[in-house]
Amino acid sequence: MSRSQVWHPFTQHALEPSIPEIVLTEGAYLHKADGARILDAISSWWVVTHGHRHPRIMKAIETTASTLDQIIFAGFTHEPAERLAKALVGLAPPGLDWVFYSDSGSTAVEVALKMALGYFRNIGAPRSRIVVMEHSYHGDTIGTMSVGARGVFNAAYEPLLFEVDTIPFPAAGREQETLDRFEAVSRDRRAAGLIVEPLVLGAGGMLMYPASVLTELKRIAEASGTLLIADEVMTGWGRTGTMFACEQAFISPDILCTSKGLTGGAIPLAATLATDAVFQAHYSTDRKKTFFHSSSYTANAIACAAALANVEIWQDEPVAERIAALSAMQGAGLRRFRDNANFTDCRATGTIVALDLRAGSAGYLAQIGPKLRTFFLDQGLLVRPLGNVLYLLPPYSITADELDGLYDAIEDAGERFGSRQ
Ligand SMILES: *Cc1c(COP(=O)(O)O)cnc(C)c1O
Repeated sequence: MSRSQVWHPFTQHALEPSIPEIVLTEGAYLHKADGARILDAISSWWVVTHGHRHPRIMKAIETTASTLDQIIFAGFTHEPAERLAKALVGLAPPGLDWVFYSDSGSTAVEVALKMALGYFRNIGAPRSRIVVMEHSYHGDTIGTMSVGARGVFNAAYEPLLFEVDTIPFPAAGREQETLDRFEAVSRDRRAAGLIVEPLVLGAGGMLMYPASVLTELKRIAEASGTLLIADEVMTGWGRTGTMFACEQAFISPDILCTSKGLTGGAIPLAATLATDAVFQAHYSTDRKKTFFHSSSYTANAIACAAALANVEIWQDEPVAERIAALSAMQGAGLRRFRDNANFTDCRATGTIVALDLRAGSAGYLAQIGPKLRTFFLDQGLLVRPLGNVLYLLPPYSITADELDGLYDAIEDAGERFGSRQ
């Protein structure tokens, strides 16, 4: 094959001369051109839920492609989008009655931020500040970087990022500081919205906090009229043990973003759900109050059909039971590390586990990250540490034996790279 001209995401090509080619995906595995297979322990960057190429989702894509493709969604509609919207409203926390489609997690968040500012402008009480949580990640576009943690990923673009108010991450024992800070920044009623990743901050290092904090954040937001935006792009579709993470805090956000698991991980699609109040603020004979947003591929009919098939899988197959079983297995696996001095902060929420390797240096650019990745890949395991943070976020079809193998490999990685203290 001639030299590749593909520029890969989050890839330093100078340090990564050979990039494996995948020719087949199946269940929890990626198959390489040379016949070897790789266990996908991170669900291909958190998108795959039931396993790669669930037959029902593939079938829906095939069937729909015989009648529909992309249809302009301004002024037109189609059955997959209509049916999916009804299904999403039924599955989401109560009160989220409107569904706005886009095509990625980042666009779902951009839409949410625009809805929040539009809401306040249209009700005649403009607010423009966004409150964010320390260490959060909401995407890689300029707007979503602005509401995410600042660091090496976005240092070059810093001059383009807008200002936000940041509340501290609710680390164990310091939850009250987070709430107090949010209460303080809410007091002047300039905050249009608080955006949070409910229960688990993904790209920030799989940091976890209790549902009670989320319940309290909602209470404070409500009291100050600040909209709560739940970015469930990673946490949705069962990852944290429930369909959406917000359920565990018994709250309904004002706006909810979903993408990654929405089509079971098969094809891009995103949705931003909003309350009737947010919709009604834009509903007017005044054209200036229109929600001015669209993606070319908004509500792609084939993607909507894939998402509908995903919803049907949730209804017809014992998905909740699978998730409960996987969560229990993950908890048990993690217990092996309780007394392992190579690791700290062993943590789990639903199907996600994470643990920090005690290594010389931490942070994303820590040399340990790429070394660990190679260590696992050489054993046919796709584990992609965030700096020194090792985590497993597998498809729900993974077996107990496969998980055991992953935990063995993590133990070995600790022996090889850890610096016991
Ligand atoms: C991945 C992610 C996004 C961005 O989604 P893309 O589809 O990559 O644009 C936003 N928020 C969270 C919490 C994510 O994990």
